[in-house]
Amino acid sequence: MSTLFPALTGDPSPDRPALRFGERSLGYADLAAVSATVADRVRAVQRVAVWATPTLETAVGVVGVLLVGAAAVPLNPRSGEKELGHILRDSRPEIVLAGPGDELPGALAGIERYDVDVRPGPGGGRVSDDRYDALDPALVVYTSGTTGPPKGAVIPRRALAATLDALADAWQWTGDDVLVHGLPLFHVHGLVLGILGPLRRGGAVRHLGRFTTGGVARELNDGATMLFGVPTMYHRVAEALQDEPALVKGLTAARLLVSGSAALPVHDHERIAAATGRRVIERYGMTETLMNTSVRADGEARAGTVGVPLPGVELRLVAEDGATPITSYDGETVGEVQVRGDNLFTEYLNRPDATAAAFTDDGWFRTGDMAVREGDGYVRIVGRKATDLIKSGGYKIGAGEIENALLEHPGVREAAVTGEPDADLGERIVAWVVASDPQAPPTLDELAEQVARRLAPHKRPRVLRLLDALPRNDMGKILKRALGDHV
Ligand code: ATP
Ligand code: MG
Repeated sequence: MSTLFPALTGDPSPDRPALRFGERSLGYADLAAVSATVADRVRAVQRVAVWATPTLETAVGVVGVLLVGAAAVPLNPRSGEKELGHILRDSRPEIVLAGPGDELPGALAGIERYDVDVRPGPGGGRVSDDRYDALDPALVVYTSGTTGPPKGAVIPRRALAATLDALADAWQWTGDDVLVHGLPLFHVHGLVLGILGPLRRGGAVRHLGRFTTGGVARELNDGATMLFGVPTMYHRVAEALQDEPALVKGLTAARLLVSGSAALPVHDHERIAAATGRRVIERYGMTETLMNTSVRADGEARAGTVGVPLPGVELRLVAEDGATPITSYDGETVGEVQVRGDNLFTEYLNRPDATAAAFTDDGWFRTGDMAVREGDGYVRIVGRKATDLIKSGGYKIGAGEIENALLEHPGVREAAVTGEPDADLGERIVAWVVASDPQAPPTLDELAEQVARRLAPHKRPRVLRLLDALPRNDMGKILKRALGDHV
């Protein structure tokens, strides 16, 4: 059945490049051989932890696990002991895959270690025809922990196939595509889209190890066709355009520039478009749902929107009662995004209550994200219900549009908007700002004026708090719950 992973939909010739990390690379035949060796080792294991450094070993390890009936649990090598301990106690892996030189922290000491060998040679096995069902777990991926402790989302094989094939349709993604990859490999974005995606198409990945604008420029000028990034990467790209003509040239030549994991600031989208003529397309997804919506490759990339539901994904907005669907596409009526489809996870590991709470009786997953739909059905994410919706003066105000308005001010490098209790307004709007020039930061009056002019007077911030940097996680996502610590 083609819903099972990995089942390459293309039929890549054996010497075609599959994975390249720095100087080291593997073609399809060699990848099959070295991952089969891993598969042989983990065949009888239920859950396999993967020390997910951005290396060939990680990619080969995960592919090996997926060849047999095991589930891979990617670990963030930069997790603190506390988070790592939580994830290990929760997922109880029987073995951990690592690279030969990796130093593993004490938390992993009690778990058997297996070093992935990526050198093709005699001894590379052939995978037997293992059987697994569409709903068998393929991955347990921990959420980013943006709003609370990470939860282990159990992702079935069917969801990987559904999401990757839907993206192939939306992005006209084929085996001829070569992806420039600079993301970590312990989340859906970098692992599922960035590694499994190209492999499912029979195409190639070139991983930069560490993201640099120079690396992006080099690869896009050397035959790579796609770039996947998080907004902080596109911000760095936008900042570098003026001084790096090769970057402009590379981006201009790329077939597809895709952003996701958090909202891409409109200001960065526009700057890249102005310099290259290319519009970054946004897709919207979650660990629990893989991908839900995207701008299509042949569609209009409108700044601040995440496109339309992907094939096979049912999406609706629901009013505050959690049950009444919003049917108007007026670009204004805000509702919670709920989704249904084969792209969904099956459960949060060991969290039956959280799993039950996340679904409606008729099987819709409550994303916790708020959005509006524009006249043609395009989805515009307003923000998270928990942190990005400010109730002020009788209005419900999304933090995102205020952040976008602030970022257009030349004195603002980074911005985050929150609400805090206010006797008069219910909540007052607070702007957390990193100044472009710390010696001459913008004033509250200037910023309030900017927001009032661009949006509406009631959306202006009442408080300005200047910071040296915003608290962010490894994906560059702003940790709004940590902002309070700065007060
Ligand atoms: P946790 O669930 O642990 O609090 P998290 O929600 O950040 O962390 P992920 O599953 O990695 O963990 O992220 C999914 C969330 O990222 C979505 O629910 C949404 O809020 C946000 N997101 C992803 N893509 C986009 C996008 N293109 N625009 C706006 N928000 C996005
Ligand atoms: Mg989440």
